Amino acid sequence: MRPIAHLADRDDAIAFAAFHTLAAPALRAAARWPLLRARHAGGACRAPVGTGQCAACEATLDDLLLDSFTRLRSALTGPLPTTRSGEPVREMASLCGHLTSRAARGEDAAALAGPLAGPGSDGEPAWLRAARAQLVHYPLRHLEERVRREDAVRRGASARPDRDLRQAAWAAPLRADGAVLDLLILAVFRVRRGVAEPFDVPGDLRERHGLSRTEATRRMGDALRALREANPAFFAANIGEPFPEVAAVPMADPQERLDAAVDRDAARASMHRMLADRANDSVHRMERRISYRAVVAAVCAVGAGRRADPVTVATMNLGLAPKPAGRLVRRLAILVAAAGVDWSEQFTPGTPSGGSPGRSARRHAR
Ligand SMILES: [Zn+2]
Repeated sequence: MRPIAHLADRDDAIAFAAFHTLAAPALRAAARWPLLRARHAGGACRAPVGTGQCAACEATLDDLLLDSFTRLRSALTGPLPTTRSGEPVREMASLCGHLTSRAARGEDAAALAGPLAGPGSDGEPAWLRAARAQLVHYPLRHLEERVRREDAVRRGASARPDRDLRQAAWAAPLRADGAVLDLLILAVFRVRRGVAEPFDVPGDLRERHGLSRTEATRRMGDALRALREANPAFFAANIGEPFPEVAAVPMADPQERLDAAVDRDAARASMHRMLADRANDSVHRMERRISYRAVVAAVCAVGAGRRADPVTVATMNLGLAPKPAGRLVRRLAILVAAAGVDWSEQFTPGTPSGGSPGRSARRHAR
């Protein structure tokens, strides 16, 4: 047995072993959702092999565990941490008092790990409640925001992209138009949060600038292009993928479909931007374009009454999970319907500008 009194042992190694046994399961459980939201857009976080979480989340958990341990150890040996008004933190005092008491020598850290990870109960001892607050919840405060910011900075993105857009000299031309600035701040914020439709303009923002749905979509596309021109490095780090031209097309309710369907020229322009060959394109973007063409080919096949499975093509060619693949296909289907199937087929395999979109499209289009 490892008694919780070991947490107060003079030897750091003995103390850390007991601390790990007691607190690691609780920290892991409490950090799970904030990490998923910050890093995986609410999706899965898995170790490549075996159990546990992805390498990035495991590293974050290690850091949190060590921070929490260090804070406890300095409270045990030195002055207690204080509140903003300078008072010693009462919960920490209660916890340290218990860990150095005679009772702690007979209490098993492993047996208490479960109760510590639980939600707490009325009957539990005060020191356990204090341990949950001080060892688990305190180190996790603002975890989601912190992880988001750190990950963005690691990717080379700006720590405060909205401040850059509002203040940096290079962004001055973008600020000439209030709507453009608002749209870009929204886009950057949503890309960072991993929102599913980051370039959809919400109603309140459309109202503020007096934009119709179609108009807002067009303006978002223009704003993103202006940003890419003004500062390609900022664009790559803070917007990057997904492909803005596709994502900029709204869609969901029937009214939106109608709006879009009316706008054949806009749909054709969108598809052209998305699918047509471009000089000086990066290999990555070219490959992506070819993958999109494969999906459009499958959508066109369905539109023409042939058998095809565009969602599968999207999952295979673009590496998307079924749900986002479904969303992408819905958007493309609306675009194809608005632009016309015959017109859209110019981008699909076997036509001069369509290139060769990969075998899977043909297999699924059969
Ligand atoms: Zn993870």
